[in-house]
Amino acid sequence: MPEIIVSDQRIQADEDKPIIEILRKQGIEVPAMCYHPALSPAGECKLCAVEVVYPEKPAQVKLSCVIKPAEGMEIQTDNQRVQRARTTAFRNLAKFAPESGVIRRLAEKHGIDIGPPPDECIRCRLCIRACKELVGANALKIEKRNGIRYVAPRPGNRCIGCGTCASICPTGAIRQEDQNGLRIISIRDEIIGQNPLLQCENCGRYFATPKFLSRIEERTEDHPHVKEHHRYCPTCAKLLSDRIKSASRMKKI
Ligand code: SF4
Repeated sequence: MPEIIVSDQRIQADEDKPIIEILRKQGIEVPAMCYHPALSPAGECKLCAVEVVYPEKPAQVKLSCVIKPAEGMEIQTDNQRVQRARTTAFRNLAKFAPESGVIRRLAEKHGIDIGPPPDECIRCRLCIRACKELVGANALKIEKRNGIRYVAPRPGNRCIGCGTCASICPTGAIRQEDQNGLRIISIRDEIIGQNPLLQCENCGRYFATPKFLSRIEERTEDHPHVKEHHRYCPTCAKLLSDRIKSASRMKKI
């Protein structure tokens, strides 16, 4: 039986077994998705990478499902090179099966970040343009993470909670949730903005955020009659303005 060194420990290894089996027998967890002990190894998923040093040779990263023990061989299962190789392997698998929770959980278990989960965003940038050009908040941007472009909030809590991005998004990737007097705008599991909601002065319903109403006030400076209703929800504002209109009509009669 050849003697090999695994993470600085000397062990006698069965020469017929692949290294992955020997490591697992030692209680070392090695990720793998294409390996099965009853089948010949394929080396497809590449998750089981380890660093191997053969006597008098430089270190190499190899797939532990494919290699067998050799006298004096040294194996490292968790150094920087191994993590880099596994990260690449996990990310490649995630490209084939982006929705797979199994890949994500396994990567997490081995301390590997494969980037944020997939979203429903088609990168049309409607939300970014609306937020900048219509709302003037400029709260969103495209950000590259691990080589993939994502819609993400700009730093500085710029979101005013108007909800324009959520209503303009053609795929529903951006969500608006109003709960317990708070409006949360989010994409994936990331919060874009979190703003308190004001209650309508007439019916008490939560309807808009103070930042959004201030923005409306700024923009309606030349129309003071519009400002009269700015603490009313749209339904009450309409109701009250209809009443005012009919009252003034009555006066004329
Ligand atoms: S809810 Fe926030 S991010 Fe969306 S358009 Fe309004 S200000 Fe911009």
